[in-house]
Amino acid sequence: MEESAMETQSAKGVSRLNEKKPLIRRPVADNSQRIRHLVQLLFVALNGWLGVQFILWVRYFEHGGEGFYVPRPPGAEGWLPIAGLMNLKYLLFTGRVPSIHPAAMFLLIAFLLMSLLLKKAFCSWLCPVGTLSEYLWKIGRRIFRRNLRLPRWADSPFRGLKYLLLGFFVLVIGAMSGEALESFMNTPYGLVADVKMLNFFRDMGQTAAIVLAILVFGSLLLKNFWCRYLCPYGALMGLVSLLSPVKIRRDAEHCLDCGKCARACPASLPVDRLTQIRSAECNACLACVAVCPRQDALQFALAPRRGAAASHRWFRRTLGPLAVTAVLAYIFFGLMLFARATNHWQTNIPRSVYLRLVPHANELSHPGM
Ligand code: SF4
Ligand code: SF4
Repeated sequence: MEESAMETQSAKGVSRLNEKKPLIRRPVADNSQRIRHLVQLLFVALNGWLGVQFILWVRYFEHGGEGFYVPRPPGAEGWLPIAGLMNLKYLLFTGRVPSIHPAAMFLLIAFLLMSLLLKKAFCSWLCPVGTLSEYLWKIGRRIFRRNLRLPRWADSPFRGLKYLLLGFFVLVIGAMSGEALESFMNTPYGLVADVKMLNFFRDMGQTAAIVLAILVFGSLLLKNFWCRYLCPYGALMGLVSLLSPVKIRRDAEHCLDCGKCARACPASLPVDRLTQIRSAECNACLACVAVCPRQDALQFALAPRRGAAASHRWFRRTLGPLAVTAVLAYIFFGLMLFARATNHWQTNIPRSVYLRLVPHANELSHPGM
């Protein structure tokens, strides 16, 4: 269905053009993957640092407020996507910035903005789970010498699972009024939702461990198993990314029809047959651009200049890896600094409440249960 929405190229026309096309190599070697991997690792390091701070903060309260104290890092709320979605609805419906877990909302807005401008760049440049998934399928390819691809009849419906999960969360949150959202966030469960998230990983039950092991094994075999089939967060980013003005764009006049781009695409998109990639599966990893041998044949770009000569069609329309990094950093730090400057970054809960709730977080059940 997606493919039918994309523009296809007439094979006849392509081969006719191909006869005339010399191989004009790109003047400088592509470094997009090196830069992307560096950004990924920096973001993993940032998350690791936030994670250590958060664990120390939790342990302080678990020990009755004794020992080494570090302030609670609001950035850890990036791991509360449901709270972010609830708070975003609360903001939209009440016009008020939520007081509990506001950073979760600001981070969600930042990631949505990134998707709106740069396809799902969040998934392949920043998301630690996306980074882990990518490393896992690359390790799997080394172990098994290849990655598997589900047949089309299985791949398409399984890809729909992440939209079903997203639909479930949207329906549940959509049915809640502003007051209901506020009172949920102010329940003991809502106040320490971040601690409960940490405890899920620290005190993992047998069932959760088995599910996690299946996900890891699936990720070794299939490229971006979690992201492609199950991640509702990625599904949301993918839907927003359909509006992105910047896309992978192929210039048929320059293209050599070598097919390297399609073979490199971890989302299995037919990059070599389309003039632009609109698909919600494109995560702007630039792997296709990195392998393209021909100058101006494939770019992550705005629409080409209309009526311009082939040599000027992409002038100042293309975003290289440094520009992508700059836009991501600008949005991420811009939103964070805005929230800090307006005093909406921290969740301000009295110490006495944390002293009472944090040691008993595991005993708190969901208010609806
Ligand atoms: S390889 Fe290209 S088309 Fe495929 S996901 Fe990455 S950027 Fe998108
Ligand atoms: S890598 Fe893709 S876009 Fe580049 S020349 Fe080959 S087929 Fe054309």
